[in-house]
Formats: sequence, C-alpha cells, structure tokens
Amino acid sequence: MPSRISISQLQNASRSIEALRQLFPEVSPPALPPVPPPDISDLTHMQKIALMQMWESHAARAVIAALKAEVQDKPSFLDYRALADRGWCEHRRADGWHHLIGYGLEAARLLERKLCVEYGLHLTRESGGDRFNVGVSCSCGWHTNVRKGRSTQSGISQAIGRHLRSANGLAGIVKAVKAGS
Ligand SMILES: [Zn+2]
Repeated sequence: MPSRISISQLQNASRSIEALRQLFPEVSPPALPPVPPPDISDLTHMQKIALMQMWESHAARAVIAALKAEVQDKPSFLDYRALADRGWCEHRRADGWHHLIGYGLEAARLLERKLCVEYGLHLTRESGGDRFNVGVSCSCGWHTNVRKGRSTQSGISQAIGRHLRSANGLAGIVKAVKAGS
C-alpha cells in the first residue's frame, strides 16, 4: 500500500465511486444477517479434546490437560471426522494433521472460554492495547485496559489481582501468566 496518496488519486477514487453509484443506483450494500455462533453444546468430551488440540492459544494446553484429567482415553480419527463433518476442520495430506477452518476457529475460541470458566483456569496476558493503554485479557474472556504511564506494571498487577479474586470465589486452578513467559 502506498504510504502517501496524492490529491489527484483521491479525486480519481471519488469519481470512480460516484460513477458506480450512477451506474447502479438501485444497488445498496446488502445488510448481512447476523451470523449465529457455532453450536458447541452437543460436543462429546473427546470431540472437545480434539477441537482444543487443533487450537493454538496461550491457554489451550491447560484446557487440554484439564479435559484429559477426566478420561483415560484420547480422541480418535472418528472424533476429528465428526468435527470435519461440521465443516470445522480439514485433514491435510501435507502434514497428516487436522486443521481448523471456517467456523471451527470460532467454535474453538468459544469452547476454550467456556471450559476456562468451568475449570477455573484464568491465564492472563497482555493483548489488544493501543497508544494509550495496555490491554490485559484472560482466557475466561475477561478484558481490561490499563492506562500507560509510570505505574503501568503495578496497574496491570492490580487489575489481574482484582479479576482473580472476583473469579475465584469458586476455588480453581489459578495461574496468572504474563505474555511471553
Ligand atoms: Zn479469567
């Protein structure tokens, strides 16, 4: 992408848009229907493990460990195929693994959050900040912004501390992990 756009380029672009409007006055951009979130309510325990094993996040390993602690088994090819039948993953010959595709990514994200709440897994990290704020988020879905400044680090620690205290009225496995560690 060019870093600078000249006035004449802008004028050309706006003329093109105006020309399109005149050619197709009846066409307005379609309003997209809201997409319902993928249904993860009927996944079997093994399908949940399979879904999490294809998911890459800072919390996925902890979630898989919690799921595996409940069973003496591991997902089979059939569990992966059930997810592939939903259009959530595909088998790639190149590496012989299943990979998440399409709504599978959203399904994995939703399942991870749900399981983190259920198992009391609170893995925090810095993410999604901007010029003025450091974003802090947790694997359970919690997110906050801490203003950048001299006391940013203590602000982050306090925010995480507050979150863990409020989340752990219920006793659980608590791990506060900073990004990159
Ligand atoms: Zn949390």
